[in-house]
Amino acid sequence: MKKYRVGILGATGTVGQRFVQLLANHPQFEITALAASERSAGKTYQEATPWKLAEPMPEAVREIVVSTIEPPLDCDFVFSSLPSSIAREVEESFARAGYPVISNSSAFRMEEDVPLLIPEINHHHLEIIKIQKQNRGFDDGFIVTNPNCAVTSFAPPLAALHERFGIEAVIVTTLQAISGAGYPGISAYDITDNVFPYISGEEPKVETEAQKILGRYENGEIINADFSVSAQCFRVNVIDGHMASVRVKLKQDATLEDVKQAMIEYPSLKLHSSPEPFIHVCDEPDRPQPRLDRDRGNGMTITVGRLFPDNVFHYRFVCLSHNTIRGAAGAAILNAEVLVQKGMIKHKF
Ligand code: NAP
Repeated sequence: MKKYRVGILGATGTVGQRFVQLLANHPQFEITALAASERSAGKTYQEATPWKLAEPMPEAVREIVVSTIEPPLDCDFVFSSLPSSIAREVEESFARAGYPVISNSSAFRMEEDVPLLIPEINHHHLEIIKIQKQNRGFDDGFIVTNPNCAVTSFAPPLAALHERFGIEAVIVTTLQAISGAGYPGISAYDITDNVFPYISGEEPKVETEAQKILGRYENGEIINADFSVSAQCFRVNVIDGHMASVRVKLKQDATLEDVKQAMIEYPSLKLHSSPEPFIHVCDEPDRPQPRLDRDRGNGMTITVGRLFPDNVFHYRFVCLSHNTIRGAAGAAILNAEVLVQKGMIKHKF
């Protein structure tokens, strides 16, 4: 099979490096373009990148010369892991130039005509791309986003519960890893021997994105799920893996076993990056833990544990996902695999 040629915007950063690692032996995609800031442009990827992953940088990308973030790039579509401050303008310019843009940044996530995908939950939201193209005058290009990395850890179990029992309200407290802040991120002085109770801009995202992800697609519109979320977000001294402590109030009665089964039975997809299972529920009383559970399913499984009835709401549980894989690069690659399966990404030549 002829591989699709992929460009990465923000290729030298924390998420960009994960893209490079995860795409190294991908059966459908090959990296042909890497782009980053003026600081990196013109250097080889090896010279420009402060590589922070344990596996060595793949041979195939080392000598690629980093481009600036303007179209055209030598590829069929782009993954974007740019800071949101610049993503809006740059992602739009690529979509307008005819490139499908599969983005990690928050710039377009909550726009009405942009899918916010966790494909196991809402791949049918991709229907809205037809409307996006009409609204924005895009020709072959379009924009698809994946959620905030903390939302990714708890939206899947909520989707399982919402589908069977309906959700009325959610309280969530997130414990987010250092790598979520990019490189170099939060200073060692601030995070060592500490918990940091503020992540700029995070709580509003955590309070709104799950309702769009779990929303219904009807008559050309995504209608958000109608529950409220109250969130507090903390940065903790963990390198990778975001946890979320969740309390949920359901619309219908459900036993503890019903709740557990709903999560366990929520289906995965049969794509290259799909994990099996999608949601793993631990019985051990002391799991999930970031160090022990973040790599389950190659970093793509959502791990849930500590599932119990709650004295104030109906149930409580703890979720964990790998923030730079399921919460970022792995999520975007799975989105691209769904787009290929649906025939929405084409070879440029
Ligand atoms: P990062 O480590 O700071 O990397 C940022 C990347 O963007 C680098 O490649 C950098 O290039 C490039 N860049 C920065 N300023 C630029 C400019 N003015 N023009 C062109 N390129 C520029 O950040 P990250 O953690 O990878 O995050 C990237 C995006 O993904 C953000 O929107 C973030 O919110 C989102 N995200 C991150 C995570 C996570 O767990 N880290 C999870 C989900 C989503 P240089 O190296 O040349 O400066």
